[in-house]
Amino acid sequence: MRSTGRGPGRHVRVAVVGAGFSGLGAAVRLGRAGVRDFVVLERAPGVGGTWRDNTYPGCACDVPSLLYSYSFAPHAGRWPRTFSGQRDIRAYLEAVADAEGIGPHLRFGREVLEMRWDSARLHWEITTSRERWTADVAVCAAGPLSEPVIPPIAGLDSFLGPVFHSARWDHTAELRGKRVAVIGTGASAVQLVPALAATAAGVRLFQRTPPWVLPRPDRRVPAAERLLYERLPATAAARRALLWGVRELVTRAFTRLPNALAGYEALARAHLRWAVRDPGLRSRLTPDYRIGCKRILLSSAYYPALVQPHVETIAASLAEVRGRRLIAGDGTRTEADVIVFATGFRATEPPIAHRVTGSDGLTLAETWRDGGMRALRGTSVAGFPNLLMLLGPNTGLGNTSLVLMIESQLDYLLDYLRLLEEYGAAGSVALTPRPAAVRSWNARLDARLGRTVWNTGGCASWYRDAEGRNTTLWPGSTREFRRAVRRVDPGEYARLTPAEAEPEPETETEAETETEAEAETEAEADGGPEPVAPPV
Ligand code: NAP
Repeated sequence: MRSTGRGPGRHVRVAVVGAGFSGLGAAVRLGRAGVRDFVVLERAPGVGGTWRDNTYPGCACDVPSLLYSYSFAPHAGRWPRTFSGQRDIRAYLEAVADAEGIGPHLRFGREVLEMRWDSARLHWEITTSRERWTADVAVCAAGPLSEPVIPPIAGLDSFLGPVFHSARWDHTAELRGKRVAVIGTGASAVQLVPALAATAAGVRLFQRTPPWVLPRPDRRVPAAERLLYERLPATAAARRALLWGVRELVTRAFTRLPNALAGYEALARAHLRWAVRDPGLRSRLTPDYRIGCKRILLSSAYYPALVQPHVETIAASLAEVRGRRLIAGDGTRTEADVIVFATGFRATEPPIAHRVTGSDGLTLAETWRDGGMRALRGTSVAGFPNLLMLLGPNTGLGNTSLVLMIESQLDYLLDYLRLLEEYGAAGSVALTPRPAAVRSWNARLDARLGRTVWNTGGCASWYRDAEGRNTTLWPGSTREFRRAVRRVDPGEYARLTPAEAEPEPETETEAETETEAEAETEAEADGGPEPVAPPV
């Protein structure tokens, strides 16, 4: 590591911000590619990201573990259930970090307070809560769902008991025998409500919008099956490929043919009818928007929990708190001893965006103020040289494993580093996305998002920002994304050298033209995909 010559601080080739699924994945792939000069800055005391932060009762993943795990670190014979719980997923990530020798690169307790691009030295200056770093390349792996939101509620300060968010569970709060109010009915709530109903004296569920809920086909994986996966890894790979392939097929319905989701809607209605006999409750639990518009929730325990006599579903948001009394938007009054907010995350306005300042002196948040979050291939942003975002804008998924997207972006990261090296010695050159390439990519995204179920399904969701633009989801298959980021297209980037703080002017060929990967994407959208090996 070379010294920055500016007080305490060290220089690295790559600084990764965050040690969750994406940051840890980056560390593994960097290590395996022979990059030794990198650091992972993590504000928490351990790895795991969202799987370390979310410890609410019932916390689990609604994507099968065989698919929700790195293809390069298979764990098939060790998952105890088909859909793993938070502890098992966290333990998996810790085991991967150990097995891959990532420890020496990890710096815990380092919250990144500021990242500023230095155009003269072509590096990022990173100020953490402990020390300063400089890095030729910064990888932002801070997670799209890491900052919990508690909505402003009149009188909340007057509440006479514990109040916390599902992602910051207060394990010191006594829930046994208490009346617990849960605000929200998203993916977190459907998991924690059944667990709470098993211990609390009463649950008051404030539901602003009913979710579509399908049964979750979870099961314990028998020892014989695990042994099979262990002894014959090809069987686990085949099962993973099957899980992947089925989800890829369904993606087309989400992105191009929302009417084709009607079968899922019928299944979800049958699930509701079968589990909830009371017509009044059933009607309150019936969504009035197309299935898939919000995340489809998987739970076989949610409806059975709601029909219990000590669980009350209030079909309105929480409007006001007065002492222990809670008043709903429809005027319903109830009492509670504890309030749990399962109200989601700041997905379209990530706080880290306020801390990253690019080459023109603007923060990411300022850059995105008009028009929302925009990146090139979900990964790089014009005006932010040598910054790669993992799970950046429009890389989220509605129905399959995010790990697939992360792994595709890691290919892009390694190719980016290869290209940088090809262009010059460390510190002598940087790359910045051409604004025209970013515009072109986002125009394509917007056009495709316009016909997805997320935009047309008649719901409001965190997928779309305050202006209604979908800045979070990828409107295609994971295979398509993989192809789009397999290689860095040099034509989409301008080269920077220390002498020239400004990028070279855009040329005719780069401006607003269809790039090679976009052309591939178009070809696939038109029904002519090349066969690509499944990510097993
Ligand atoms: P969420 O999906 O954003 O759900 C938030 C809930 O809070 C919604 O029901 C929302 O109602 C409600 N809400 C928000 N503000 C409110 C207010 N002011 N008053 C009343 N209700 C309010 O959050 P989440 O459940 O934590 O899930 C977030 C994401 O995390 C998921 O979509 C998923 O991507 C991920 N996640 C994944 C898993 C998994 O198993 N893989 C598990 C948990 C979470 P409206 O619907 O009316 O907006």
